[in-house]
Amino acid sequence: MRGGTFGIAMGDAFAARIAAELARAPPHATGVAIVRLGAIRRNYRKLRDLAQPAETAAAVKANAYGLGVEEVFPALENEGCRTAFVATPGEAQALRALSKAAIYVLDGLLPGTAPLLEEIGARPVLSSLDEISEWGAYYKAGGAPLPAAIHVDTGMSRLGLPGEHARLVAQTPELLSRFDLRLVMSHLACADDSRHPKNEAQRARFAELASFFPGVPRSLANSGGILLGAPYRFELTRPGIALYGGRPGLSGTNPMEPVLWLFTRVAEVSWASEGQSVGYGAAQTLKRRTRIATATAGYADGYFRALSASDALDGPPGFIGAHRLPMLGRVSMDLITFDATDVPEEKVRRGGFIELLGERVTVDDLASFAGTIGYEVLTSLGRRYNRVYVDE
Ligand SMILES: *Cc1c(COP(=O)(O)O)cnc(C)c1O
Repeated sequence: MRGGTFGIAMGDAFAARIAAELARAPPHATGVAIVRLGAIRRNYRKLRDLAQPAETAAAVKANAYGLGVEEVFPALENEGCRTAFVATPGEAQALRALSKAAIYVLDGLLPGTAPLLEEIGARPVLSSLDEISEWGAYYKAGGAPLPAAIHVDTGMSRLGLPGEHARLVAQTPELLSRFDLRLVMSHLACADDSRHPKNEAQRARFAELASFFPGVPRSLANSGGILLGAPYRFELTRPGIALYGGRPGLSGTNPMEPVLWLFTRVAEVSWASEGQSVGYGAAQTLKRRTRIATATAGYADGYFRALSASDALDGPPGFIGAHRLPMLGRVSMDLITFDATDVPEEKVRRGGFIELLGERVTVDDLASFAGTIGYEVLTSLGRRYNRVYVDE
């Protein structure tokens, strides 16, 4: 089956706030993306309370999963978050401009980037002997050794020191004394699947490899890992997707609050007769006389073409107030067509808005329609939306 089940409607106060923000949008805004910072803060608190006494850091790579690190990270800092994980040196630089937090760079030490990381005070997550040597060689005798993390591979075969290299580093003072080891970490391959046997195998292997570095804080859990239970949390957790309202586990209800609401502007409302086709490829033929609402978002805005409807397949619906609008035909680069026949006439108007994403069609619902994951929906969010940050 395509798509998911649709959640409940939002609370009244927030609905009123959304209506006010839409009314305030400039007329040339073709779409409005509302990021609910209060929901991010509540999601952070929930994970932090669950994981304590472990520290809860935040994965804010890829511009806080597309939502805007400049707005998102200060909101997290207000809740006590003091450690951030980014992917690249450039992201570390952007975050340093707004925060004094400890910043770990997950991509590690790219060749030649040590001076930049030192300058901005970011910590590479070292994942090979080459990286450890380069970071150590950069350390100038007489200065303070520079902080860094070590990534050990526990079975993902992506980044990280193999066990024998971790042991070698631990037993080689010339390597270990040339930097300030602040964290030992690894990453779970199947954390979203609580029944997967790989989780326990990786946890046990991690505990073993981390024991080579006694007294150094340990971190294994992403969002899914936190929910696997206390043994996975060690001294520091690194949630990302759950902060942003995405589902941390494959099964059960999503315990996190949605964060992103997307609205697209109606450019045209028109009638078409039964038997006419809609959109590229004539992929959908109308089964009745239909009122079509054409809206100004498309795959260039991260509303994937894979979401398209056809005679054989439903797409995700849009909403105007409580009214549901089935998608019609293919998603174009800049436009989507919806069936507005059953919406009262006065509610479907040129210049009005259709809700694409929120509590009724969640990031995960959209992902399942497109055959992908919520992470990709968020990080694909286009730049043409007017972005509004709401905190309450
Ligand atoms: C992205 C990432 C995280 C956060 O993962 P989520 O599944 O979004 O919680 C944690 N650790 C590493 C190494 C990552 O790359």
